[in-house]
Amino acid sequence: MAADKGAKVFDLRFLDFPGLWQHMTHPMSELTEDAFNEGFGFDGSSIRGWQAINASDMLVMPDPTTARMDPFMKEPTLVMICDIVDPLTHEHYTRDPRNIAKKAEAYVKAGGLADTAYVGPEAEFFILDDIRYDNNEHSAYYFVDSVEGEWNTGRVEGPNLGYKPRYKEGYFPVPPSDSMHDIRTEMILIMEKLGIHVETHHHEVATAGQAEIDMRFNSLVAMADNLMWYKYIIKNVARRYNKTVTFMPKPLFNDNGSGMHVHQSLWKDGQPLFAGDGYAGVSQMCLNYIGGILKHAPALCAFVAPTTNSYKRLVPGFEAPVNLAYSSRNRSAAVRIPMYSSSPKAKRIEVRFPDPSCNGYLAFSAMLMAGLDGIENRIDPGEPLDKDIYALTPAELSKVPSVPGSLEGALDALEQDHDFLLKGDVFTADAIDTWLDYKRSNEVNEVRLRPHPFEFKLY
Ligand code: GLU
Ligand code: MG
Ligand code: MG
Repeated sequence: MAADKGAKVFDLRFLDFPGLWQHMTHPMSELTEDAFNEGFGFDGSSIRGWQAINASDMLVMPDPTTARMDPFMKEPTLVMICDIVDPLTHEHYTRDPRNIAKKAEAYVKAGGLADTAYVGPEAEFFILDDIRYDNNEHSAYYFVDSVEGEWNTGRVEGPNLGYKPRYKEGYFPVPPSDSMHDIRTEMILIMEKLGIHVETHHHEVATAGQAEIDMRFNSLVAMADNLMWYKYIIKNVARRYNKTVTFMPKPLFNDNGSGMHVHQSLWKDGQPLFAGDGYAGVSQMCLNYIGGILKHAPALCAFVAPTTNSYKRLVPGFEAPVNLAYSSRNRSAAVRIPMYSSSPKAKRIEVRFPDPSCNGYLAFSAMLMAGLDGIENRIDPGEPLDKDIYALTPAELSKVPSVPGSLEGALDALEQDHDFLLKGDVFTADAIDTWLDYKRSNEVNEVRLRPHPFEFKLY
């Protein structure tokens, strides 16, 4: 492939523990057959959440099945996603998210119930002109004195030509209201060219700039790899237009945030296992999977809604779930069973509390492990909740458990409840401890220590 495409350099990609792609580049002369066995060295101590400085040498092992040509580099560049190996023991690194995801896939197969876990994330995002917080009318700081109807919707434009969607009105009028159409089309054409099958792109509910692109579902590791390409392509196309993208779950106060609903199903021998004759056309296995997701949801949040900002999204009124219930069709439930199609092959669940600030490898693996725990222990998900949950009375609501109110709460829940993740050695105690430690010291505490702009309004 390198020869066919005239690659001049090759680029090795892997992700740090929180989930951002890292890379280093070599001339083609370095790509020998030995390279696939011996790997390439790098300093693991400079990667967030990884090795201590006294054990910093690590190896990246390129996975040739992931080779794609980079669509943005000036010179023809072959990209491979890599696994991380300890040079002394030659073992796969326990804090490498891709290793965790591979072990999760192996655990499904070993259990014999199913052979494939499919996932389909719908990662929403904002395309913005400018991210300066203090100059942004949508920030919590600025909003306090602005008057409804006079909002500038984030599009910097002079003269004012109108057609700017107001808050929660972005879904989804044609251009000129939708000013991002051409950008999204360019994004999906690049994805398709790289073999990432896209089903749709559209403007999302929030004001000018919120977008969604849906990729066709795939098996877990392949989808987590594609999610890295997805974010990379989206950010780099936006940059071509002199715009910027954020996958932050709640960048704008009082408007919809960005979720990453994750569709999930289990299959065996090419047959779907979630279709059946129970509630909403699902199988008992599917209901137990939902039971596992709901039971472990507070702990799962530490991986699927892993930022302090995630909990500004998980509030009532913006199509994001708060309550831990399931339902067909109901978008206010944490788990939804989509009813668009009656085909058994389309039967799946949609978990709605994840957001795109997560590390896909860890988020998909953790949800799969929770669902499998539900199946193994026949966890009953309880009765479905088909009412609009936002409209329940306080007395009715008090019976429905809810997602944690903060990252701190999610991390505490994970500390209490993680045995389901340790099965099959998929997540190790070291990986969980490191995650708790990293998130508490670098994010929870760092945010807590800083005076918030809105405190100046209050006090
Ligand atoms: N943006 C909403 C969320 O935060 C979801 C909107 C939708 O249903 O696609 O989850
Ligand atoms: Mg959406
Ligand atoms: Mg959805």
